Amino acid sequence: MMDVLTHLSTIGRTKDNGSHRLAYSNEDDLARDYFIGLMKKAHLNVRVDAVGNIIGRLEGQDPHAGAIATGSHIDTVPNGGHYDGMTGAVAGLAALMRLQKRGALKHPLELIIFQMEESSRFAMATFGSKAMTGKISQDIAKTLTDKDGIPLPLAMERVGLDIEKMETAVRQKGEIDAFIELHIEQSPTLELNNLGVGIVKAIAAPIRTHVKVIGKASHSGGTAMNQRKDALVTASEVVLAVNEVANAYASKDIVGTVGNLVVKPGAINVVPGEVDLWIDLRGINRAAMDAAQAEIEKRVREIEKKYGTPIHLKPLVSDNPVTMSPEIIEVLGQSAQALGIATMQLPSGAGHDAMNMGSLAKVGMIFIRNKDGLSHHPLEYASPDDIALGVDLLTEALYRLAK
Ligand SMILES: [Zn+2]
Repeated sequence: MMDVLTHLSTIGRTKDNGSHRLAYSNEDDLARDYFIGLMKKAHLNVRVDAVGNIIGRLEGQDPHAGAIATGSHIDTVPNGGHYDGMTGAVAGLAALMRLQKRGALKHPLELIIFQMEESSRFAMATFGSKAMTGKISQDIAKTLTDKDGIPLPLAMERVGLDIEKMETAVRQKGEIDAFIELHIEQSPTLELNNLGVGIVKAIAAPIRTHVKVIGKASHSGGTAMNQRKDALVTASEVVLAVNEVANAYASKDIVGTVGNLVVKPGAINVVPGEVDLWIDLRGINRAAMDAAQAEIEKRVREIEKKYGTPIHLKPLVSDNPVTMSPEIIEVLGQSAQALGIATMQLPSGAGHDAMNMGSLAKVGMIFIRNKDGLSHHPLEYASPDDIALGVDLLTEALYRLAK
């Protein structure tokens, strides 16, 4: 496994020792060809669907049984790391190679390498799994263009794919029974808990709000304190309120951030007249997210009243978190216990292909400890020991589901 990960890391290598394999690029294609070769060598029946998802299959004893699937992605962000995506792809291959030695299984097994998981090139994340689960139409896909002006249909054509056939990539209900993705964690939770592997309970989703505070710009020397409508003073309290509410809901896996603040006119000698800021609230439980958002909005109204500066709230995004299947969480827990592997349940702050696969199959995820929680960076790192533990757990869970 480590040899394969090392070899993958040399494809699209950057001068900063990162991996640069954007979806549908030559580098990505080289890595895909290499990986298809490995899958064939492992006796998988390999096909590539209309959008470029690679599907390797081993038949089971029951021709009517849905597949037990695993997989991840091997495309990267610009100058990315060597583990995000690749670890799950390689772990899935290793698990299927091991399962072939454990005798006949009832269900077929599949290894899926999703295309274009990263949004870096076409500003669309998890495209391959969206196409596989019918969550994106050809019309929308045809509007995507990269920063060099290359439309997605042309980028696909250059690697031998026809976007007109996109709908043939859609899988039907019943084709896949379960899907388990192994991935490096993109936070330091496992590291802080001294654990090599974890079981994901849900994938977080955001509620995002644009906030505009209207004050009155005036001379900082000539405006007495009691005559001011300082939009930034009001905005500061909004920032603190978001932080306080998120802290109050932290036990319910809520996080809240104001990551950007634009002050107008933005001069040292002018009382701020207008401030735009953006609230990013995330959680894995819709009720907790809604409650925290309502609390923030209530606090915003109080702050507006206190300072007499109008505050406009504009909802931008309100996505639903994806809960992992309780059955898969249980199978993973039992498998870990049987193997003597210590784990914990944890949320995923980042999105993954497993999110989309939830509409087709029971889904679960295994997280691997990631040094400093760093990812999308050349220095992201997971240790061979932790990856091996993850493969043990993945193999056992797939076995229990497929036998
Ligand atoms: Zn990833």
